[in-house]
Amino acid sequence: MCETLAGHGHQAYVVGGAVRDLMLGVQPKDFDVATDATPEDVHRLIRRSRLIGRRFKLVHAVFNAEIVEVSTFRAVNVAIADDATGETDGGRLVDAHGRLLRDNIYGTREQDAARRDFTINALYYDPVSETVLDYHQGVRDLKRRTLRIIGDPRARFREDPVRMLRAVRLAAKLDFQIAPKTRAPIREMADLIGNVPSARLFDEMLKLLLSGHASACLHRLRTEGLHHGLLPLLDVILEQPLGAKFVNLALAQTDQRIREDKPVSPAFLFAALLWHQVAAQWKVREAKRQGRIAALYEAMDEVLDRQTDAIAIPRRLTATMKEIWSLQPRFESRSGKRPFALLEHPRLRAAYDFLVLRAESGEADRELVEWWRRFIAGTPEERARLLLPAPKGETPRRRRRRRPKTRPPRDRRRPWPTEVARAFVGLGANLGDPARQVAAALDALGRLPRTRLVRASSLYRSAPVGNEAQPEFVNAVAALQTGLSRASCSQHA
Ligand code: ATP
Ligand code: MG
Repeated sequence: MCETLAGHGHQAYVVGGAVRDLMLGVQPKDFDVATDATPEDVHRLIRRSRLIGRRFKLVHAVFNAEIVEVSTFRAVNVAIADDATGETDGGRLVDAHGRLLRDNIYGTREQDAARRDFTINALYYDPVSETVLDYHQGVRDLKRRTLRIIGDPRARFREDPVRMLRAVRLAAKLDFQIAPKTRAPIREMADLIGNVPSARLFDEMLKLLLSGHASACLHRLRTEGLHHGLLPLLDVILEQPLGAKFVNLALAQTDQRIREDKPVSPAFLFAALLWHQVAAQWKVREAKRQGRIAALYEAMDEVLDRQTDAIAIPRRLTATMKEIWSLQPRFESRSGKRPFALLEHPRLRAAYDFLVLRAESGEADRELVEWWRRFIAGTPEERARLLLPAPKGETPRRRRRRRPKTRPPRDRRRPWPTEVARAFVGLGANLGDPARQVAAALDALGRLPRTRLVRASSLYRSAPVGNEAQPEFVNAVAALQTGLSRASCSQHA
């Protein structure tokens, strides 16, 4: 890519974290390229590339199945007063705290190097001549294993407070020390994190948690006094022995999984970080003699409301977090039909893993975890044997629910497939005996390998589309939980 750009008379360098990581012998996470070509030129010259970004344009190019981000040299070296607001010369826009709101003017290579955050992130590698340009003594700092900000630390942190978080993350990831002058102002400037848009903080927090060094990062955040704006009650949690143990276990487990290249779930992680706040709120509300489950739901909302003021956890994550939390008390029922109902819950796996974590930190019974492990893995006979007698005083609630005749019996014999996905299948037939065909198809779906039929709609009729002369259709929709891939699922269907 650099060669192509160079062939058209442009400068193009590999920059940022990739050069740093390569020089340290660490596998780079991604590659960035900086060039004097405009985004439009890059897009024109590089095949399989696209223009992105509105605020400042970038190009994403696909190379060896990886996305390389190509940016045009930018300049941001206009000095700004502490209380500057509005537009200053050179196109820089800052807020009342000196935070940079816009830095979208193109510049020279030197200016591009000076706007970068740390000396070790401002190395420019030219793959054509195989040379490294080092404007800010980044190589020296790499050797000294030191993270040093370029320019005046206070000014640079004020421009972008996220740099303080980046300092902590990179220092923890690389096991570097933060240069004393870079480190000194962090504690007193920590509050500026509060001015950063909460969506950006979420992104940064996620990077930190998924860095493979979450545990080290979080402890360093605490040491530097940076965690207040991110996870407001983390201090409180970490001061209780149970809470600290729980959070530490969750982070250690995450780091381990990342290092083994296994997927981790951000929702699970945030659920773990906030659990002890939820648990504390739950207790308070329960003590006020609120219903146990209602109290839990209120506690969850309260904690999430407070948390999302600081960092914007997206709704798709909070929905899963709530499911993981709200399933916890449901593990306590081990008699009657309830445990079977839980088996069918799409979040059972995550909620069970969460229960394991609670047991490992001493908060839940190990015996309960063991029971569920066996129940989930068990055959129908084993499950029946495991069931406990209904607690005294609790008469089993009889719920009369009439099922449509066409509904197939729920299949309890199938073992729980590992790595399940929810799949919805629509069925339709209009030849022969359509109702029978659809019922037979539903039945067949339930017998697919590594699959359970969770629910099926009643049969319904629909008018044919297109050729109006055809007979009416009979349809049904089925929800499956399946360990099959999408391709093999539709093949079976
Ligand atoms: P990682 O290993 O997490 O990818 P990285 O240093 O490559 O670390 P990126 O977010 O990919 O981080 O950023 C690429 C480069 O852009 C950085 O190396 C740095 O030169 C520059 N950069 C990123 N964020 C900032 C910032 N907030 N202020 C100044 N420069 C930044
Ligand atoms: Mg990078």
